[in-house]
Formats: sequence, structure tokens, C-alpha cells
Amino acid sequence: MGEIKRGHAKSRIASAAGPGGPSTPGAPSLDDLIDKYQEMADLTKPMCMQDCPEPGGCCDARYCDAAEARAGEFGVQLPRQRHETLKYMGPRGCVVPPYLRPLCAVHVCEFYVLRKKSFARRYLPLREEVCLLEEALGPSWPKGMARIYWE
Ligand code: SF4
Ligand code: SF4
Repeated sequence: MGEIKRGHAKSRIASAAGPGGPSTPGAPSLDDLIDKYQEMADLTKPMCMQDCPEPGGCCDARYCDAAEARAGEFGVQLPRQRHETLKYMGPRGCVVPPYLRPLCAVHVCEFYVLRKKSFARRYLPLREEVCLLEEALGPSWPKGMARIYWE
């Protein structure tokens, strides 16, 4: 699923950006952002699904809606699931690629940021990288939600 969606999103961004946009060689690209959000999700998921007293407890229908809106900005249609309240929660977890659910991918308890130094050492710089990448992708880019979330 990820590769197909990536293709859709890339053509959508390329046409929106025009010459000199994100597709310029050496410039930040959608692939960079996809990879960084994946890295972020890989980092935060174990905190939320293993170490948390209520694994996945921060999922909420509102954030599924936010993911749907973001996907819409990229021209991507997300596959609905059968979960009672979370439309993108499949039997093996969330089916939304991390770059289309930035709030979910970036969100983690302050406890981990403030108290777990090994986590914070990786998390904080990565979060900044994601924010800078979104900003570098320019005005035609969907809103930099990671930055909005943290300010
Ligand atoms: S953010 Fe905190 S409370 Fe929410 S799911 Fe993750 S670890 Fe659990
Ligand atoms: S988009 Fe996925 S991670 Fe985010 S709230 Fe919905 S099911 Fe949970």
C-alpha cells in the first residue's frame, strides 16, 4: 500500500510545486519526509504500544479525521477499516502511513521526553528535522503539522 500511495502523493506534489519545487534534484523531497516520519513512528510506537499502561490509548476518532484530511491534501484515499470507533485501525494496527498521520506519529507522553534521556536524545532532533523538512518543502506543501503541534 505504501508505495502506491507514495506514487499518488508524489505526482500530486510535483504538479502543485511546479519548476523549482520539491522535485528539484538535491532539494528536500517527499521521499525524505516519508522516511523521516517513518523513522519517527518507529521511535514512538514502542513507547505507546509496549511501555504505556494503556497501549494505543491516545488514538481518537478526531486524529483519524485529521489523517484523512491530510491524506486528502496529498490526493490519497485511505482504506477504511472495521474498527468500531477508529476508522483506520486495522487488525494489525494503524494502516495510515506515518507521513499522513503526523500528529499520531509525533505524539508521545512528556514523561518519555523529559525523563527517558536515551529516547529524548533521538526524539528531539528527529522532531526538529521533520519540522524543518516540512518547512523547506515550501508554500505549496500541506501544512507542517509537526511544527503546529509543538508550538
Ligand atoms: S502518548 Fe503516552 S499515554 Fe498515549 S499511547 Fe503513547 S505512551 Fe500511551
Ligand atoms: S490515524 Fe491511526 S494512529 Fe492516528 S488515531 Fe487513527 S488509528 Fe490511531
